[in-house]
Amino acid sequence: MTNSLNKSIDRALVLWDKNVKHEDFICLKIIPFPKSCCCFYCWPKVWNVINEMIKPQGQIQDEGDVLLKVDDEEYVLECHESGPEIILLATASITLLTAIINLISCLLNHLQKERKKPKEVSIVKKQITQQQEKVVCKFDLENKAFTLETISKKLEKAFEIENK
Ligand SMILES: [Zn+2]
Repeated sequence: MTNSLNKSIDRALVLWDKNVKHEDFICLKIIPFPKSCCCFYCWPKVWNVINEMIKPQGQIQDEGDVLLKVDDEEYVLECHESGPEIILLATASITLLTAIINLISCLLNHLQKERKKPKEVSIVKKQITQQQEKVVCKFDLENKAFTLETISKKLEKAFEIENK
């Protein structure tokens, strides 16, 4: 885990303008099950809608990454074939977390509409200081009852638990 995590953080640090240690970061990874490719060609609707959302701040390209700002805080969104990753500081405020929850909710909501829709998605949290990655929450994409709101609620609940 540590190697791929260090690589993801290195990618984010290219865009980050501050002196931050690898230990200061959290990586949230969105992992489909069964494992499948998450690139622009496999998830066209998802990446399209994400680019619409982040338009004022920048655009992400296939296999690329983008720095996004929320007030004075920053986070990085990375496109990996193995799953999108969000790199943020462990000290992130509720405001930043809320913005990230909105982004993930929107992503999952549109993922349900993709032709290559996975059965399930896990949100996994990784940190250099933690030996093991932790599953923050899981979503069953076959469940048609999922709306943008129910996804957000589930994520909010999961992140509140994380913050305690
Ligand atoms: Zn692909």
